[in-house]
Amino acid sequence: MIDLRSDTVTHPTPAMREAMANVIVGDDVYGEDPTVNKLEQDAADVFGKEAGLFVASGTQGNLVSLMTHCQRGDEIIVGDQAHIFKYEQGGSASLGGIMPHIIPVQPDGTLAFEDIEHAIRGNNIHFPRTRLVAIENTQGTLGGLPLSPQYMQDIADLAHKHGLILHVDGARIFNASTHFNVPVADMVTDADSVTFCLSKGLCAPVGSIIVGSKEFIAEARRVRKVLGGGMRQVGVLAAAGLIALHDMTKRLQVDHDNAHYLAESLSEVPGVDVMSSATNFVFFLLKEDAKLSPAEFVTEMKSRKIILSPYPGFERKFRCVMHYWIDRERIDTVVTNMKAILS
Ligand SMILES: *Cc1c(COP(=O)(O)O)cnc(C)c1O
Repeated sequence: MIDLRSDTVTHPTPAMREAMANVIVGDDVYGEDPTVNKLEQDAADVFGKEAGLFVASGTQGNLVSLMTHCQRGDEIIVGDQAHIFKYEQGGSASLGGIMPHIIPVQPDGTLAFEDIEHAIRGNNIHFPRTRLVAIENTQGTLGGLPLSPQYMQDIADLAHKHGLILHVDGARIFNASTHFNVPVADMVTDADSVTFCLSKGLCAPVGSIIVGSKEFIAEARRVRKVLGGGMRQVGVLAAAGLIALHDMTKRLQVDHDNAHYLAESLSEVPGVDVMSSATNFVFFLLKEDAKLSPAEFVTEMKSRKIILSPYPGFERKFRCVMHYWIDRERIDTVVTNMKAILS
């Protein structure tokens, strides 16, 4: 099967399976799993932060971060296309009592600074307290858009000027740092917390990491525990995470080149309009006058062992995500099959 739906479908690499089988573990709730401790410290070092915390998922990482930074009744400023707002069940509101203040995400994936400043509440007994700004990099729903190191510095400065915390949902931050060819630490120099996913394009089977100050991470460890995220011999996962962090982050340019290659190849497929291509994402539209309906197209591709599905909430928009298990040969197979059934 060639699965293009997401980089979350990536299986662990052979090196990861080997490492997982042989890893030394301990009870991580007691802080005694050496492999988890190493992964957390290595991640902190790579990001230029003091400490790290392994969590079960990106969703848990964002929730733990927001609940650690905010009190009940606090407000966060977040984009209307952000994963935190759209795809996390409103968990920070339902579980943390944190109110989202939504501002539009711009077509380039950024939040406009005048929108942020406009959203900040004054000191008034009627208002919730604005506590935090959350920014996503790469911006997922609009197409894996990378936000520049300069923008990231500017938004951190803006937040801090107003006494606010900056949280970065960096699920795919290594794709952004690869795009700009800078160390990931330079993307988040003054961010107060960052979450990133080991389990997407980095191929680990499970897990995300939060990085930040020692104080923040100590508090986040408590919040993770109450959310049921205190895990035991989790070194079996951290072993894969170490390979994700140190090795898989170095090969993402291949995925970006492949996305570019796919987008170019798709432009020759009848009934298809390439909408965008950035980092490891390609979006295309199955046109109204295409030979097949979206449902027929999906079924026909599946019978050819290629998995694609319309992007959630859209009928004709498809997302293809490049990752370790998609090479040029597979891209050629996808394009050949699409030409065959859409011509
Ligand atoms: C995938 C993703 C998350 C959540 O990660 P899960 O591990 O799926 O919970 C958060 N933010 C962004 C931008 C993502 O792409």
